[in-house]
Amino acid sequence: MPHFRRHSAEKNNRANNNNNLRLRKNDEMKTTTTTSATTRIPRNGRRIFRSRRPRVGVVLVVKNKSQSGEAAENAPKASGVDRSLNPRVRDLNESKTVALTDLARTLKERGEDVIGLAAGEPDFETPDVCAKAGIRAIECGKTKYSPNPGTVPLRAAICEKLKRENGVEYKPNEIVISNGAKQSVTQAVLTCCGPGDEVIVPAPYWVSYPEMVTLSGAEKVILKTDIKSNFLITPEQLEKAITPKSRMLILCSPSNPSGAVYSRETLEKICEIVTKHPRLLVLWDEIYEHIIYAPNEHVSAASFPNMWERTIVVNGFSKSFAMTGWRLGYSAAPEYFSKAFNMLQSQLTSGPSSIAQEAALAGYVELGDKGGAPVELMRKKFQERRDYVIERLRKIDGVAIETPGGAFYAFPDVTKLCGGDKGGFVEGFGPVKGSDEMCRYLLQEARVALVPGSAFGVDECIRISYAASDETLEKALDRITEALDPKKFKRSGSW
Ligand code: PMP
Repeated sequence: MPHFRRHSAEKNNRANNNNNLRLRKNDEMKTTTTTSATTRIPRNGRRIFRSRRPRVGVVLVVKNKSQSGEAAENAPKASGVDRSLNPRVRDLNESKTVALTDLARTLKERGEDVIGLAAGEPDFETPDVCAKAGIRAIECGKTKYSPNPGTVPLRAAICEKLKRENGVEYKPNEIVISNGAKQSVTQAVLTCCGPGDEVIVPAPYWVSYPEMVTLSGAEKVILKTDIKSNFLITPEQLEKAITPKSRMLILCSPSNPSGAVYSRETLEKICEIVTKHPRLLVLWDEIYEHIIYAPNEHVSAASFPNMWERTIVVNGFSKSFAMTGWRLGYSAAPEYFSKAFNMLQSQLTSGPSSIAQEAALAGYVELGDKGGAPVELMRKKFQERRDYVIERLRKIDGVAIETPGGAFYAFPDVTKLCGGDKGGFVEGFGPVKGSDEMCRYLLQEARVALVPGSAFGVDECIRISYAASDETLEKALDRITEALDPKKFKRSGSW
């Protein structure tokens, strides 16, 4: 059995639930695991650890922005270095999903029995055809800078795919291939939005959208949704949020983190509203388009009347083709925007990896637009896991969940467990209020790393990635179920 240790500070603060692990909004978060000043917890008196399981010793060092920003600037300047940062960068929040994924990995590398369900990446290998094409590219010396917006053959293949599969026509010079969809989203936001603009971001949102808006100097307008609306905005909600300053609406379908999919009817209504406002653009993130489960279908926002000219489509190879590490995404948009994205990319990163582009091209050529058999296999497997995870979560008293139509995340609402002022309560742990504390509790007690809904702007929920093997999911759900057993976990309002 691995040797588990806990930080002495954690030990001292445990009874009053000092929340070393609390991930606070607007706080800077650094993840560290405990390596020094460790002490075993005595199991005496009121010492509260009933389970025989070893606990994970984790400290998330949380620094408030005001401490890390202004205070750092005013701190004595060691070696005369002015450490001030551009406020737009200083005010960004670290991605909690990345931080928690890294934390789970570090714990596992230390030999601790932690199950990581925080990551947003398929647990499948890149299709063989793509991997081999990447190797060939290296062997054939296709290792030089690629054209800034990507190679002509891959841009042409993307145009074909968009036409055939999504019913939208682009010329190759309207495609900009980047080092991942994250870069494409950033470039689109930085290019089109700036101070004085408002960007409408439905919540739950992918963690990076609001941060990119901050970086651009525009204001974010968060449209909160909940489980009752299956985490989708309504056309009425959108209409109310639009002002003369509205510049962009960011939509993601299938959604990370909720897995919700916009139906053709709802999307059509949303697009009708958008087209009434000449300044308003739509950033349409369809990176999960191939990970979708019938009867849901993927529809492109750019395909509705008058939408092509005001839509920036973002997609990539990370999810559909299980190519997260290859770093390849793209945008498709009218030339007047694509030209500017291309220019920005030329100053930021230059063209994307020549090797990754060869791999992706082989995927299209040899497997087809949707990635053929390997991608279909992965999709089916995700669907089975989705069904399993949802069924297990529904059996936990107090957990509410909608069936996600796509992606590989479950986004259960845990309000009944830990919502309200008081939250839930676990003897030995203390109150469990909101999603941050819930995830901290589940990491500590169940040794399962999840992402708090607060990271996505919806504190009522937690995100569980089911991109993991059947055995891992079963084990994780056994542990979560046990940790949330009503005998142990007192529901909100019941204690
Ligand atoms: N959009 C969404 C909704 C995502 O979930 C992600 C990855 N987590 C991205 C964009 C970025 O993907 P990429 O790996 O291509 O940068």
